[in-house]
Amino acid sequence: MLNIKRVADLARALLIQRELARHERWGPVDLARHQERRVTALVKHAVNNSAFYRQHYEGHRTEGAIDIKSLPVTNKKLLMDNFDDVVTDQRLKLVDLQEHLQTIKEDAYYLGEYRAIATTGTSGLRGIFVFNRREWSTILANTLRWNQYIGVVPRLPKRTRITSIGADAPMHVTHRIPQSADVGLFHVQHLEATAPIAELTDALNAFQPDVILPYPSMAAILAVEQIEGRLNIRPSVVSTHSEVLTQDMFTKIETAWGIQPFNHYGLTEEPHIGTDCSGHEGIHIFEDLTFIEIVDDNNQPVPDGTPGHKYLLTNLYNYTQPLIRYEVTDMISRSPRLCSCGRVFGLIEGIGGRSEDILYLNSSDGRSVPVPPLFFEICIEAFPEVAEFRTVHQPDLIRLSIVPKDSTNLGELEANLTDRLRTGLNSLGAVAPAIAIEFIDELERQPAKMGKIKLVGAAPQDTDIERT
Ligand SMILES: [Zn+2]
Repeated sequence: MLNIKRVADLARALLIQRELARHERWGPVDLARHQERRVTALVKHAVNNSAFYRQHYEGHRTEGAIDIKSLPVTNKKLLMDNFDDVVTDQRLKLVDLQEHLQTIKEDAYYLGEYRAIATTGTSGLRGIFVFNRREWSTILANTLRWNQYIGVVPRLPKRTRITSIGADAPMHVTHRIPQSADVGLFHVQHLEATAPIAELTDALNAFQPDVILPYPSMAAILAVEQIEGRLNIRPSVVSTHSEVLTQDMFTKIETAWGIQPFNHYGLTEEPHIGTDCSGHEGIHIFEDLTFIEIVDDNNQPVPDGTPGHKYLLTNLYNYTQPLIRYEVTDMISRSPRLCSCGRVFGLIEGIGGRSEDILYLNSSDGRSVPVPPLFFEICIEAFPEVAEFRTVHQPDLIRLSIVPKDSTNLGELEANLTDRLRTGLNSLGAVAPAIAIEFIDELERQPAKMGKIKLVGAAPQDTDIERT
């Protein structure tokens, strides 16, 4: 639905985008100076307006120019546990926002000026992130910048046809951004990543998109559909988003459509960390809006070219819910080189974590039905009683470990969850294998290994579910 506020937010995004375009011609000194200014302003704002940060930074220097590396880190659990004290507008309450997200329709504002999105993300813990209108315009400006990197620009009279394949609810960032950016410049088709593949291929065959924007695991599934002849589209741009594009997925896409896919990387906390340019030399980090420190287990920086144990994200524009030195357990490394395109933004050259496994199940007539990892996340996210989860699948068993919220009726949750998964798998055309649900107090983490819990993964030989 088009309304004046949304148009105004997008108009502001166009202005911000012009500003952002100038940043790409900066040199390293300009960028460093900008980051220092933004970090200092953000930390001061947080200390002045957030009870949580005031306490968190007690005893640390938050006057004058701020050395961000001296400040204690944060993480999702800490920020969610203290949500009402973290946010800088006292009217924002976690409990109300949870309710808002349960009932949200379309691109609805909260309190007339905020947009809230949620995810379980890769740690399996539900996170809720809030942006005011200006902050959301910045996200949209970054979306426009991404479009420019991958060569998607408005065209008339025959509008560019874009198919976005993501989550099916406005609480998810992959749904919300295209929804709030859609004022008719493009012809947009939104497909749900949890729909049966046959339904997706039919819709794509009918729409014939110029551009497709799927999750990488979904892109790989569609590439196989194309190679095997059930899908017949000719996109000129494929950009995967949000998750890791593996070499195998890249090759499948190149084989299917004769083009090299773009690789976008983002989180709900920061929807656009960056994207590669047409040189495909690595993912440019949009460093004027996001500050990333790649670190080891003890939060000490690792040298360029070395994968970190995790990284610390500072979102430089979210003043509503400051995310400062916020732990993200993806293992990335920063290239020691700059891209040959000449942009000042550094490159992520490798992402280790989050390579997602696709589960293949059989249909009743013996076909193989691919189930994208997102399927589980979306099914489980529908249950607010779930605090954290992990799924491990074997060909004949899906094992789900759940950390429930307090006072949850476990029997009821188990029955409803099993039912939801079974129905979902059946609607994909798959015969659901046995589903085993266990309730536990906390998910096991083994920092000595890769430090990251694999939430959805195959366990063909043993039950080792850590990433290796
Ligand atoms: Zn480049």
